[in-house]
Amino acid sequence: MTQTASPAIELRGISKAFGTVQANKDITITVPKGTIHGIIGENGAGKSTLMSILYGFYRADSGQILIGGRETAIPDSQSAIRAGIGMVFQHFKLVPNFTVLENVILGAEDGALLRPSLSKARKELARLSKEYGLDVNPDAVVEDLSVGHQQRVEILKALYRQAEILILDEPTGVLTPAEADHLFRILRGLREQGKTVILITHKLREIMAITDNVSVMRRGEIVGTVKTAETSPPQLAELMVGRKVLLRVEKTPARPREVVLEAKGLRLTRGGVELLKGVDLTIRRGEILGLAGVAGNGQSELLKVLGGIARAEGTITMNGRPFTDPREAGIAHVPEDRQHLGVIMDFTAWENMAFGYHRHFAKGALMDNKTLRDETAEAMKRFDVRPLLPDLVIKNFSGGNQQKIVVAREIERNPDLLLIGQPTRGVDIGAIEFIHKQIVALRDQGKAILLVSVELDEIMSLSDRIAVMCGGRIVGERDPATTNEKELGLLMAGVNDEAA
Ligand code: ADP
Ligand code: MG
Repeated sequence: MTQTASPAIELRGISKAFGTVQANKDITITVPKGTIHGIIGENGAGKSTLMSILYGFYRADSGQILIGGRETAIPDSQSAIRAGIGMVFQHFKLVPNFTVLENVILGAEDGALLRPSLSKARKELARLSKEYGLDVNPDAVVEDLSVGHQQRVEILKALYRQAEILILDEPTGVLTPAEADHLFRILRGLREQGKTVILITHKLREIMAITDNVSVMRRGEIVGTVKTAETSPPQLAELMVGRKVLLRVEKTPARPREVVLEAKGLRLTRGGVELLKGVDLTIRRGEILGLAGVAGNGQSELLKVLGGIARAEGTITMNGRPFTDPREAGIAHVPEDRQHLGVIMDFTAWENMAFGYHRHFAKGALMDNKTLRDETAEAMKRFDVRPLLPDLVIKNFSGGNQQKIVVAREIERNPDLLLIGQPTRGVDIGAIEFIHKQIVALRDQGKAILLVSVELDEIMSLSDRIAVMCGGRIVGERDPATTNEKELGLLMAGVNDEAA
């Protein structure tokens, strides 16, 4: 028995390379027992690699792991579980057509599907659910559960295996704000019971809200470990990115000019459901119009209609004229669903740059690949895409860099109107700042921008004018300088606009 409690986890000098990529370099971290320890860093900083080493998926090239003060070899995940470590995966590993109960006991020590062990497990599951506020129905089939509930099953699964240390890798990326709040309550409950939690995220707000200590990773290294109470978002952002980062968007007041796009009476019905119920919209040169709304209220459809991906009844004009091909009419489109509509994952960066406007580069019947490659390299440099390799296949770039490539492609087309959906989804802080600056710069060149985002912060800080959608209609318009999140939230929820 030790007198002073040993730290739950101590990592000493952990290094790990994949070929020439040094994913982790001499990492040393101490995590006290009963605390929530944040690990923050941009995409590719090495967070998941480090946790995979702790969970026995990868073996470190060098370094030591101490669990509860004792050096522990973790050659595989069974060893990690025996050492009391549980992992909640970014992409869940549950069996979709099994029940919660079956999933929880699957692979556990006495997990053979015997009736006695099932009923014992059921009792234990009920106890854990109650103790940690993880209410899930043990007999529900996993595929019928929401993502938030599936995550709770993952947590239960770890607790059932008597985890004392719980690792969560980017757990809120897939959650609604309300589900994320619920998860945080659960994590606080775990801490109260003396469990140790490692929370990996690239969201500063989450670090500030829930962690006790935070380690910042950059390019495979720990660049600082601080007490959360003694740090601030700007300081963490600077540590993450390696330079000062503007967390607020800097822009001068808009000077809107003539109308670029005008849409009237847009109606769209799919499968008998009216998704757009008569939308009128006007966007002017020199302004950013933000479209706020809870996901699923018609914003996505509106963006697709204007981008020419979906068809609606009604009229749309660009610069006063009707059109058939949005691109020819001067509309560029960064789609919400980057992975399905924005890029072709197996194609290279330069091929993706060409995607959607081959004609521009056509030389007779042949496409001029050399010009295209060179222009892509130039654009990648301007947009700070890393790594600067036009021949790299898109799926090998991080999400943030994929997004920069799509944004670069669309902005380079010099459009009159840029439609941009969820511009910073899955994008890290340095890249968010960069993309926001590009949007504002485009506006200042006299272009029009229609921004759709589920991040109300982003809408508030970037827009010159905010339209709110609810139930397939634009239910109100606000000036970002005089409105607030509460007022917008009410409009988004369909509370009548008449009063204000
Ligand atoms: P994070 O979780 O912070 O986004 P990762 O740990 O996933 O970062 O990745 C760190 C670096 O290691 C990245 O450059 C990534 O491309 C590389 N990497 C991660 N896993 C592998 C792997 N299995 N093979 C090769 N490179 C990898
Ligand atoms: Mg990761």
